[in-house]
Amino acid sequence: MSQAMPIIELGNPVLRQSAKKVENIGDRQIQQLIDNLIATANQANGVGIAAPQVAQSSQILIVASHPNARYPHAPEMEPTAIINPQIVSHSEEIVKGWEGCLSVPVIRGLVPRYQAIEVTYIDRNGLSHKQYFTDFVARIFQHEIDHLHGITFLDRLASNLDIISEKEYEKLMKNSHKK
Ligand code: ZN
Repeated sequence: MSQAMPIIELGNPVLRQSAKKVENIGDRQIQQLIDNLIATANQANGVGIAAPQVAQSSQILIVASHPNARYPHAPEMEPTAIINPQIVSHSEEIVKGWEGCLSVPVIRGLVPRYQAIEVTYIDRNGLSHKQYFTDFVARIFQHEIDHLHGITFLDRLASNLDIISEKEYEKLMKNSHKK
């Protein structure tokens, strides 16, 4: 059984804490938290979510990339639990792209991120992985890993001029579709 959890928003101190490493991945509470995080991401139609966003200060995140109205070009992938992730190397190249956050409602920002990253992490079965990600999926990882260190996309913006409203962002996406 899984249950979507309430998402906390900017101003809640848990979003500014460093999350604890998970030691006991097999524990029922951890497995339940993973299922609930996936349910929460699905319900919110999010492409990713980190445990601190449901007020659990643990190094767990879900990457659930799929195309939707907000990110029409996102690749499709099964919601995947990523535990104790670390970026071990990254491209020189930095690209700006639009991001939003379930914990920062109503606005979007043009955020600079590494174009490619190499990440080590543990999966929900306790197996270690080292994987290379590029473009949109690399962006999701960087955004969600930031949440594990108390950082939001707002902290990464080059300028306040790179912030727009959700409403204006929707217009922008519609117009870019027509091209
Ligand atoms: Zn976020």
